[in-house]
Amino acid sequence: MREGRPAFVLVVGPSADPLERRAAELCAELIEGWTGFSPEIRTDLSVPEPAVLLGTPTSAPSLEEALRAGTIRLAGLPDEGYHLKRIDERRVYVAANDPAGVLYGAVELIERIGSLATGWEPFDPDIPLRLTGDLDAPDWDLRSAPAYPVRMTIESGEDPRWLALHRVNVSGAEGVWVGTGIDDGLGTAFRYVDGFESYQDLPEPERRLFRGQLRSRLQALRAYGVAPFLFFYVTGEPTRAIERNHPELLGPPVEYAAARNGAFYRPFCWSRPEVVRLFQELVAQIVRTYPELEGLHLRAWGFETRACYCSECGGNGPEGQEALWRLTHAIIEAARSVRPELRFILSGYDRSWWKDPDRRHLRRLPPGTILLRKWGADGEPTPDPMIPTDLLQAVEAASHRLVILSHEAEEVQPLWMVEAPLFREGVRRAEALPGASAIGGWTLQGEVGFGRFDRNYSARRNWDAGAAPERVFGALVGARYGEAAARYPRRGAV
Ligand SMILES: [Zn+2]
Repeated sequence: MREGRPAFVLVVGPSADPLERRAAELCAELIEGWTGFSPEIRTDLSVPEPAVLLGTPTSAPSLEEALRAGTIRLAGLPDEGYHLKRIDERRVYVAANDPAGVLYGAVELIERIGSLATGWEPFDPDIPLRLTGDLDAPDWDLRSAPAYPVRMTIESGEDPRWLALHRVNVSGAEGVWVGTGIDDGLGTAFRYVDGFESYQDLPEPERRLFRGQLRSRLQALRAYGVAPFLFFYVTGEPTRAIERNHPELLGPPVEYAAARNGAFYRPFCWSRPEVVRLFQELVAQIVRTYPELEGLHLRAWGFETRACYCSECGGNGPEGQEALWRLTHAIIEAARSVRPELRFILSGYDRSWWKDPDRRHLRRLPPGTILLRKWGADGEPTPDPMIPTDLLQAVEAASHRLVILSHEAEEVQPLWMVEAPLFREGVRRAEALPGASAIGGWTLQGEVGFGRFDRNYSARRNWDAGAAPERVFGALVGARYGEAAARYPRRGAV
């Protein structure tokens, strides 16, 4: 930087992936926000002036020399990892093996410039900044890779740009998730697709609008390297149209024990083959409709799942559990018959639903399935995530991933913010368990007020095993309210 202006250009390779271009654009946008001037983005091969070169060996031929000379080292870097290096006063490299690595390396560059300008470390891109005067890049030589592969938000409607700037790579709650089973289950998911007229509650123009908005949303997430999963309760309530037009799919009326209005409902009868077939057709159509989808997030939990109490299903007893498993496997097979690489998140595995004492169903799930499990006891801030080691080892043996969920939507309150050491302690505790390599990550948490800062910490901890809450909070609070505010409250301090 010279006199508050960027004195370098950003260079991406001529065959750069869109995500690599987006990485350069992110850098340019932040620097423009800080200085009022945007560095130019080029695809030149020969760059005379000071430049930051972003790319992979396949997209950026200019990397070749640095790789050959050994100044840039990409060997052994896992997916999403990067090497940020200043070669001399005219060259900084942001190099990676894959486009996602280039994106996260660009985030590192932004953070490093922020740290250089403010002294806050780690610097968070949320920190407001006004750059004036000169800044010289020090001898950066940083290789970094994620602590966890699944860095997930389960909050819907998160800003994709924010997610990328905090290295979040999975959005697990796209579509409708209000937590009731009334309109966020497969039973009302007909609105996600064209056709299925006799099952639809909404008029077609409204559905078309809904589908268009969802597609734009999924595309926006993809553009920032975030893999979207569409959320469904299995199965939730049927549409009103099904009650009217297809009563043969439904079991006898059930009193909904958690109803707010005391209403009874008629559940899907999972033991009927035509119900299984209908959901297979629906799910296959959903997968065809949204090629941007990474996968489906299927959840079975409590009353929201909506059991059938006919003599064959028997509510949530052994027959009902088996019927739900049969339906779930059938849905997964149908989805993968359209797109074999489609992935799945299952939440609620082996809790009130999807009971699996001998782990036979766990082994049948496609390898790489993400199982979401709540932190600790439901609703209590505790430093013990309470992960059973036998579950962890079974997940590891089946090549799946366990992601631990702690979130306000799950009754874990923003207490987490002031109790961030509890979170750190719990993560450390879990990392010492046998089978800990099966832990895929920890969901983001913190939505309200200062709880937002906790979100920044949980995102960072998913990438950086050494991230300390007092430093992360210190930077976020101190940059806004001054050094005194950055002094982290200690236990017992008056
Ligand atoms: Zn039934």
